[in-house]
Amino acid sequence: MHILRAAHLGMCFGVRDAIALALEHADAGPLTILGDLVHNPTVLSALEAISIAVAQDVAHVKTPTLMVTAHGTSERTLARTRALGLTVVEATCPLVRVAHRAVAALAHDGYHVVIIGQRDHVEVRGLTGDLDRFDVVLDDADVLALEEHPRLGVAAQTTQAIEKVRHVVDLIRRRFPQSDMRFLDTVCKPTKDRQSAAVKMARQADVVIVVGGRSSNNTRELVSTCARYCARVHQVQTDADIRAEWFNAAKVVGLTAGTSTPDDVIDRVEARIRQVEAQIEAMPRSVAAVAEGL
Ligand code: SF4
Repeated sequence: MHILRAAHLGMCFGVRDAIALALEHADAGPLTILGDLVHNPTVLSALEAISIAVAQDVAHVKTPTLMVTAHGTSERTLARTRALGLTVVEATCPLVRVAHRAVAALAHDGYHVVIIGQRDHVEVRGLTGDLDRFDVVLDDADVLALEEHPRLGVAAQTTQAIEKVRHVVDLIRRRFPQSDMRFLDTVCKPTKDRQSAAVKMARQADVVIVVGGRSSNNTRELVSTCARYCARVHQVQTDADIRAEWFNAAKVVGLTAGTSTPDDVIDRVEARIRQVEAQIEAMPRSVAAVAEGL
């Protein structure tokens, strides 16, 4: 069984830097993070173990210092936080800031802003938090529900799959041919790299394992992208989720991971797959044939 790692996988620089900043500030004093720093249970329990608190709303913060995650937040939320006398540490990823600037430019130029993304995702709430009017769309049905505007300015959540974004942009264009529409591509490069590397890997694999948190948007996007090219795709959070029967008769096992998955979690998943392979090889030939479905 050959294990084929995608050329780009796992934690991006934005999440890595945000975790480093959280650890640095936690050393200096009590710290609360606004929302989940990353959508990965392994990282979150490590932060919890060193007493970093998490609050979903600034009103619930009990420490003097609050950290904004890599997903960013709106100027309105920042102002509210500062008005409460809290010190704010911003771990906002530079590529999320690019998306904020794109949205601000669209609104400034008189476009009705449409974000392609998940309505309740913390990044989308941050992108739309300073706007009085906007729409968030994710699929064809959402586009059909849009109202007409003379000027439509479209941007995307940074972790959406670019093919899906292009499809939605095209749909909006066709639905409102009379509108002046401007699209600013705000999907980040690490997401694009992981998506295209996943496609290349999934085309060659009999089974694909995607490592990442269940609530991680980019991990879910990797799962659905790989599923277009490989019929046997499984998402795992850790090595404990691996099931031996998934690898029946598999010759090539593809491996990829979301942008919030630490390297050691990916390594343990790979080690577990090798362990399963060794167990299959150690079986008597007749039993192995049954296990591999031959
Ligand atoms: S996924 Fe992209 S935008 Fe989000 S933290 Fe990573 S690099 Fe930044």
